[in-house]
Amino acid sequence: MSHIIHRNLRRAPRLAVRAAGLTVTDSEGRHYLDASGGAAVSSLGHAHPEVLAAMHAQIERNTYAHTAFFTCEAAEELASRLAGDAPGDLDHVYLVSGGSEAMETALKLARQYWLERGQPQRTTFIARRQSYHGNTLGALAVGGNEWRRAPFAPLLIDVPRVSPCYEYRDRADDETGDGYTARLLHELEQIILATGPENVIGFVAETVVGATAGAVPPTPGYFRAVRKLCDQYGLLLILDEVMCGMGRCGTLYAFEQEGMLPDLVVLGKGLGAGYQPIGAVLARTPIVAALREGSGAFQHGHTYMGHPVAAAAALAVQKVIQRDNLLGAVTTRGAALRRMLRTAFSNHPQVGDIRGRGLLIGLELVADRATKKPFDPALALHAAIKEAAMARGLMVYPMGGTIDGRHGDHILLAPPFIASEAELAEITSRLADALQAALTSSPS
Ligand code: PLP
Repeated sequence: MSHIIHRNLRRAPRLAVRAAGLTVTDSEGRHYLDASGGAAVSSLGHAHPEVLAAMHAQIERNTYAHTAFFTCEAAEELASRLAGDAPGDLDHVYLVSGGSEAMETALKLARQYWLERGQPQRTTFIARRQSYHGNTLGALAVGGNEWRRAPFAPLLIDVPRVSPCYEYRDRADDETGDGYTARLLHELEQIILATGPENVIGFVAETVVGATAGAVPPTPGYFRAVRKLCDQYGLLLILDEVMCGMGRCGTLYAFEQEGMLPDLVVLGKGLGAGYQPIGAVLARTPIVAALREGSGAFQHGHTYMGHPVAAAAALAVQKVIQRDNLLGAVTTRGAALRRMLRTAFSNHPQVGDIRGRGLLIGLELVADRATKKPFDPALALHAAIKEAAMARGLMVYPMGGTIDGRHGDHILLAPPFIASEAELAEITSRLADALQAALTSSPS
């Protein structure tokens, strides 16, 4: 019996004993091709020698020094690199241990900013319905995943929510992209006005929606319009790039492709690329300046923030990405994978949409392509696909859930940036087999 409280309390998962490159091996000697980087984490694959060497070197020099007493070289270098590579005055970095912690940090930083500015009445965040921002209570409160929120709803702060930017489902056939954006922005403006702009801390969104909807990129111009509206009403814009950032979409920060600047950026996953648990928040200068000139301290902190080994691993990941021009590789390999997926699934009656950006790619599954009717949630098709894929030695990240009363089954692909064309072809072929097997065993 396992003493770990696993995700599934009725069945412990397979035991992973080794991982290298794109391959994870279990205790029975079976190999799995990692087509999802875990959950869009392992951007350099597993056991990258340079990251391991950087971690070993850091472990020998200094494994831990509490931030109440010290900073460390690796954390300083990492922060200066993240800030240096970010556009505008996103010059300040707060290092934590993962995505949810980073989201909590961003929420509190935003709240304290308004306190320091003498606006204590600003207590409300506005967020989107189709979103996941983490599992701690603050992050869960701004997230829109009903099934994750439901058991804890009485413990969560109230967060007014607006529609996501989700063209496949919500843009009308006769609506232009600009028309759709204008409609979404009108909805957001109405919520801001109903809440009272003077009461709002900021707007929270994922730049490219990750797991809740399977890699949904924004309509061109959407985030420029959101930025303008936030400026008009004096709201902070907090972008969650835990899944889509750190090169996953082909630029280090996904928002770089949106032609605008958020006030706070939340990072995790690909920052440590699975080598160490690490997350971060990037903040613009006026936010940190308000705290510095006001109370002089951010009322927050964690025991493992700025951990030297985590910072050294993240720094090594950044160096490899830059030296090997892996952002360029994400763009070309992402396009190649989407091409392969389109060839395999464009005419598939149950694949409604293939979308994404860079190497964050989603397939939306539908019972009927013409009507976009989703599968019956009771079938848990996404779970059947995951199992069928594992049986074929393939790791994909399936998600299913009901948001806004609409069910969706999605498959998320987020392979490491180092995946070869042959590996991408193998992923496509095993996925086709797994999908067929799952559909055969769970007919609509
Ligand atoms: N935000 C997004 C967009 C995520 O995808 C996730 C994790 O899946 C989180 C936040 C939470 O990160 P973590 O699981 O590291 O706490």
